[in-house]
Amino acid sequence: MKTLEAPCEVSLVPKQRDRNSAESESLILRTIFRIHYFRCAELRETWFLRELVQCVIDALVMRFFRSFKFKVAISTLFSALLVDLAIANSSLDIKKYQVRLEVNFVNKSIAGSTTIKFNSSNKNAAEFPLSGLLIESVFLNGKSVLFEATAKNIKIELPKLKRASLNDLTINYRSTSTPGLVWSEKYVYTNFEPCTWMICSPDPALRAQFELELKVPNEMKSVASGTLKSTSAVGNKIRKETWFEPSKFSSYLYGFAVGLFTIESESVRSTTLEYLSATDTSNELKRKFSDTKRVISFFETKSGVPLTFKKYTQIIVNEDEAQEKHAFSILGKRFIDPILQDPTEDWIIVHELAHQWWGNMITCKSWDHFWLNEGIVVFMTAAYKQNRWGQAAYDREMELALQRYQRAIDAKFDVPLTYAGDYPSLGIKRAITYSKGALFLDTLRKEVGEKAFWGGVKKYTQENKFKSVVSQDFQKAMEIAAGKSLSEIFRKWVY
Ligand SMILES: [Zn+2]
Repeated sequence: MKTLEAPCEVSLVPKQRDRNSAESESLILRTIFRIHYFRCAELRETWFLRELVQCVIDALVMRFFRSFKFKVAISTLFSALLVDLAIANSSLDIKKYQVRLEVNFVNKSIAGSTTIKFNSSNKNAAEFPLSGLLIESVFLNGKSVLFEATAKNIKIELPKLKRASLNDLTINYRSTSTPGLVWSEKYVYTNFEPCTWMICSPDPALRAQFELELKVPNEMKSVASGTLKSTSAVGNKIRKETWFEPSKFSSYLYGFAVGLFTIESESVRSTTLEYLSATDTSNELKRKFSDTKRVISFFETKSGVPLTFKKYTQIIVNEDEAQEKHAFSILGKRFIDPILQDPTEDWIIVHELAHQWWGNMITCKSWDHFWLNEGIVVFMTAAYKQNRWGQAAYDREMELALQRYQRAIDAKFDVPLTYAGDYPSLGIKRAITYSKGALFLDTLRKEVGEKAFWGGVKKYTQENKFKSVVSQDFQKAMEIAAGKSLSEIFRKWVY
């Protein structure tokens, strides 16, 4: 690509052709190749530009410049160019988050850093949301860089980077008031807002590895996304734990919990199932989670994908929580306590476990497809109850979903499952994404029959594991399993 020097202007004048034809072709070629881009050097090696040049040369040599084939080729390549430029300007190509944190229970504060490992791009700045973090310094590959931090975000200036290199962007910070952590006297845990205790992209389509180095009081237990790789002493009272997740998940699924808990555990194959509570006795923990193995077995069968974690932990806290994180869940005491009186009151265990497949392993690519997380999981909870407690339990879940969906209908807000606009309230949004989503799957199940429906669920899960997806991916798997087009029912409910 020697001909492509900054500012990326190339002229290819054909030889041995008649003058008028050569001039007009040259004019078009000059227009095509006058690609002025502020960092065009990094475009030089990209496939579409190489292909484009080759295509034009071929066109001239083969004298089919005006042919339909050539026009199609040019159109396709320019579409690719536009898409690539759009991606280049949207976000960093993040490969890994490396978080170092120390939690301090005396003043309920954190201090630490996030190192974002990313591939070089043509971006000259990076931007991340902020909430409650006080930024102290920013380094790129060990060198201090300029940044601007407000209450809502941080903008970091990026110098021109060596092509195709892996870079380290390290942001140091501390906080005494991040809304991303829930503190009590006995514990602290992360909620659904990871960008309040680590620096990250909130885009669910962006999946990256996660490493967490956590300094915790010796007497406290800790849990985090991934696998515990090492533990070492830091003085007499503090220990350092390093957790790592090699598979890539969306940032909102990463988290941790540290505290004084009652602990029980058992195992299923090579996975340890751990049960933690700040208030329960060992006996209560065993009774509450006695069906966990059965729930895992049901979802492994229906998904065709085994649970591969080394450890899955369920933590009971005093607050009204129902959170699925990668490899652990946080369950509110008020939601799980009824199970001691009535074992069929198991929805929170089942719902959050189902998310380890649908929502975590397979994540919606954008929040417009959030029903793929929640609608599927509400339905799967009902399907488990049908298997465990009988048809009446399934019918009850569907009846509840219908009652909640009715609220959206009454509010004249019965929008498609992929509705991308604003909702009048969180309740109405949930009535659509959770309840209407589950009812749609119940309808689809009746439409295609048991064999095709569960075949489609299995195909969708197996083919999309560790990916971010859109509704069309689900439709495609279902249509293949059903052996027919389902565009009518999807158009009615989903689009
Ligand atoms: Zn959920």
